[in-house]
Amino acid sequence: MTKGRTDMATNPNVAFGVCSVCRKEILVGAKLIRCTVSTCNRKRFPLYFCSPSCWDAHLPDARHRDPAYTEEVARKQ
Ligand SMILES: [Zn+2]
Ligand SMILES: [Zn+2]
Repeated sequence: MTKGRTDMATNPNVAFGVCSVCRKEILVGAKLIRCTVSTCNRKRFPLYFCSPSCWDAHLPDARHRDPAYTEEVARKQ
């Protein structure tokens, strides 16, 4: 796999980013799990996950008082 610029207009498999836990690639249009805690949603370094189990895996490090997640569809940034 090559890293670098992809043509957003013509490439149907646009990568949104990688899962913050397992580093699996998340494509635009795919399901995305986002932590609802504000410290996990910093503008410069937002966390997102490919599955609830990966979200689960970040909890021991994050130590949220009231952890929750939302499901959304990955969109072009
Ligand atoms: Zn993952
Ligand atoms: Zn979190």
